[in-house]
Parts: sequence; structure tokens; C-alpha cells
Amino acid sequence: MPEVVTDVVCPFCGCLCDDLEVVVENGKIVEVRNACSLGTAKFLSAQKEDRIRKPYIRKNGKFVEVSLEEAINKAAEILVNANRPLLYGWSSTECEAHRVGIMLAEELGAVIDNTASVCHGPSIIAVQEIGLSGCTLGQVKNRADLIIYWGSNPSSAHPRHLSRYTMFCRGFFRDKGAKERTLIVVDVRRTDTAKLADYFVQVKPGGDYELIQALRYAIKTGDLDKNEVSGVPRDLILKIAELMKSCHFGALFFGLGLTMSKGKHRNIDAALSLVRDLNRYTKFVLMPMRGHYNVTGFNTVSTWMTGYPFSVDFSRGYPRYNPGEYSAVDVLLREECDAALIVASDPVSHFPRKATEHLARIPLIVIDPHWTPTAMLADVILPPAIAGIEVDGTAYRMDHVPLMLKKVIDPPEGCLPDRELVKMILDRVRELKARSS
Ligand code: SF4
Repeated sequence: MPEVVTDVVCPFCGCLCDDLEVVVENGKIVEVRNACSLGTAKFLSAQKEDRIRKPYIRKNGKFVEVSLEEAINKAAEILVNANRPLLYGWSSTECEAHRVGIMLAEELGAVIDNTASVCHGPSIIAVQEIGLSGCTLGQVKNRADLIIYWGSNPSSAHPRHLSRYTMFCRGFFRDKGAKERTLIVVDVRRTDTAKLADYFVQVKPGGDYELIQALRYAIKTGDLDKNEVSGVPRDLILKIAELMKSCHFGALFFGLGLTMSKGKHRNIDAALSLVRDLNRYTKFVLMPMRGHYNVTGFNTVSTWMTGYPFSVDFSRGYPRYNPGEYSAVDVLLREECDAALIVASDPVSHFPRKATEHLARIPLIVIDPHWTPTAMLADVILPPAIAGIEVDGTAYRMDHVPLMLKKVIDPPEGCLPDRELVKMILDRVRELKARSS
């Protein structure tokens, strides 16, 4: 008889939808209900034949299957012998693994960083500078009558965001759903989300900062002495400003279109200031559209343990924080690190070519269930159980609400949780260091 596991949390994007039903028959997932296509694919990919199921070490240029003990030993040796190891990734695994990873970084005097440094790092820096008017997604669902997506296309990247939390859902004070809400999309092109919008504001690439400041001016004065700003006509800017001021509860969600375009954290400074200004007239909040399902979790755990959310350097024996200096891409571009441990991430597919070239030159340990381009370059590969499918754990939704990931099926034999694999490396590192001292 098939078993239906209910209230499963989806371990794919920052929405962390917690209403999934997974049908399991003979230890296999046969159906995933309520998930979008991205979430469904993640659950079904766990069962792919070409998944990494064994530990490997590269010997004479070829991957050779080895025992887990030998692979852990080799990984620990690489890290202990390195002068400046880099520990990177972490955003697609559970918080319990983050905790042990940070302990390992401290033990090694390593640099530890997560994918925030190439996505919403600028948002975190801006929030540290001027603060955040935030809320939970539940408050948006129950109260918001104006939704803005700026530089973000949730229809592709967070497919259930609109239906679960913002536009197409009924809330306690919004029981008519979309009929009581207005959707504005600001983007450089007419995305799928923009096609759903009541107002689409097409901004010139790189023109976000000026447009935000023009909106702030229009909100303060009710006027604007330019015919257009960043390609947006004056009348539309005044209209959007008026909609923002007159709503009951507005929510601005922003993505990499704002964080990674010209201006970076200054764009977010300006957006935070815009929302702060709006709170003189109404209730307005702002939230980054976090991508990986537990990128927020790493930033939270790292802040608890080190005082800093990402890009942390332990080389002096205590944590130091400086994005742009201790972020993974910069450490690689300066060819500083001489070994790397990558957990639940594929930097080779996303980092600049020169950073990837250095990663290819140094000893590389990868913990990943799939044969990614990064795994293909590894010297040691450790096969994990997949958090949220084969092992439980904690993850933080994009609004900082922690949720428990469920175990739905057993992992392949010999595949252990990330937290256990990293702990085994940590124990072995301590043994090796004790022996040499
Ligand atoms: S929107 Fe995100 S969390 Fe929700 S089901 Fe889709 S991929 Fe999973």
C-alpha cells in the first residue's frame, strides 16, 4: 500500500512550502502533490540512477571508489595541510550541518562563506547599515493589499510565492484574495510575473537607484520635475508613488535584479529608505527573495556563532568579517586559498572563470549527491543523504521563520547526513592536529 507523508516541507527554494504530500511506495517516491515543477523535480531527482552513492578519491586522474573512512581521512589531511582553506556552499543543506561546518572552519583557521555572497549579500550589508522594516509571509498573506516585485521573477524562480503568500491567496483581512490586491512589477523586461501585473514598470538596465530616489521624491513632494527617470515616464512614477502611499499594507519583494545590478547594496539602501519613508503614511515592509531553500539558515546560524552572517575569516583564531575580501569569489580570484571544501553547492557552474580555474588547481573536497561540474573536479567526493527528503533537519524560510524538514524515504546505503560527514571530518582534523602538536 502506498503511504502518503503529509505536511512535507519542500527543500528547494526560499518559499519552503510546507503543505506537500509525498506518496511513497516500496521505499520509492511515486508522486509529489502540491509542489511546483521545481519542487517535484528535486524530490524525484533523489532517486536518479546516476546519483553519487559512494565515496571516491581521485587517483592518477581517475575516480576510485574507496571506503568512507579512507575518504574522510583524505579530506581531513587535505584540510589540515592547507594554509588557508575555503569552506563554501551550505545554502542547500540543514542548519545542523552549518553549525558543524562553522566549528570546522574555526578549528582550521579557514574562510567560510555561503552563496549569499553572490546573491543577497548586498541586501544583508544594506540591512546592517540602516535596518529593515520586515514581517512574516503570513502577515503579507493576511494583510497586504499592494504587492511589488522589483528585479525578481517569482513565476520562474519561486513558482508558488504568488499563490501561497502574496496575490492569489485569501487572507484573514483579504478574504477576496487577488480582487483586493494590486500587483506592481518593476523589471528590465516583461517577465512572466510582469504579465500578471496591474502595473508593469520597465526600468532601464542599471537605472534602479535613480528610479527609487525619484519615487522617494515623488512620495515626499507629490511632484517630479523630470519627464522620465530611468526610462519610466513621470506620470507612471507619480501613479506608483500614490498607490504606495495610499495602500493599507504594502510589501516590496526584491531579487537579484536589484542586488546584483549597478549600485548593488546602495540599491538596497535606497529601497530600505523608500520603505522607511512610506511608513510615515502607511504600513510598508520589504523582503529579499532568497533563492536556495536554506541560504537564510546559514546566515542565521553563522550570526549566532560568529557574530557575522557570511564571508567569515578565522585565520587569526577569531572571526573577522569583510565581504569583498573574505567572500569565496575574492579569495579564489586572489589565489589565496590552497584547498577547498564545497558542501551542497556548484560554484564551478556559477563563479567567474578565473575563480573556477583556481578551484580546479587546488585540492578540492565535495559533499554533494549529484555529479555537478564542481564534483567532476573534486579530489575527494563524499555522498550525502539529501536533507528534507532522506534526512530531517532545520531550515529558515526567506522571512526567517524556521521550519522542520522531514525525512520521507531512506537514503541509499552508506549515504549519511551532511552534518555527520562534516562532523567526521572535524573529528579526524582534531585527531591529526593533536598528533602533530
Ligand atoms: S515554490 Fe519553492 S518551496 Fe514551494 S514547491 Fe516550488 S520550489 Fe518548492
